[in-house]
Amino acid sequence: MPENTEHKIWLRATDMKQWAYCPRIVYYAYCMPLPPQPTPAMQRGRDLHVRVEFLERRRKLRAYNLGAGERQFEIPLSSKRHGLSGKLDMLVTTPQGRFPVDFKMTKGEVGENHRMQLAAYALMVEEQFACKVDTGFIYLIPQYRSVVVPIDAALRQRFLASLAEMRAMIAAENFPAATPVRGRCWDCEFKRFCNDIF
Ligand code: SF4
Repeated sequence: MPENTEHKIWLRATDMKQWAYCPRIVYYAYCMPLPPQPTPAMQRGRDLHVRVEFLERRRKLRAYNLGAGERQFEIPLSSKRHGLSGKLDMLVTTPQGRFPVDFKMTKGEVGENHRMQLAAYALMVEEQFACKVDTGFIYLIPQYRSVVVPIDAALRQRFLASLAEMRAMIAAENFPAATPVRGRCWDCEFKRFCNDIF
């Protein structure tokens, strides 16, 4: 069956992350557009992102176990095929290939939401640079360490299924269930609209 490249709704790589974290965040952003209220934690995250980018410009590629390579920062990406856009924190190009790197503020482990966002960047890099991306990295800022994420068939399959579900939810304006992980709600910029769970 030919692939449909006409997307009425262009989505962002960060939407993939939010969808895995709590689908209601995507609903509020697309079906009930509201000005988000940045929380103090979000502002701290933005400030640290800027600092990490500054440090990365001087750092070697040791943290990623890559040899010599070129690093580019804040790369605008898009995919007509998937109807996606986004800005990648860092792209490392070596003779072995291209490696997307996403900086994260999390103190815990890499989650499915982070993998989904990275997969979005990987697929956009593939389309934009006409290459294959086998591996990406998530750099955990508070822990000063990077985690290798294989961009394998299983991740690609989960990514495409989530993308289709998210687009169907937006098109039908179906109010999704809240995340079952209620600890995520306390620092959420949309919590004032989730009256049914508080
Ligand atoms: S408050 Fe909780 S359920 Fe509501 S959008 Fe935020 S994370 Fe989701």
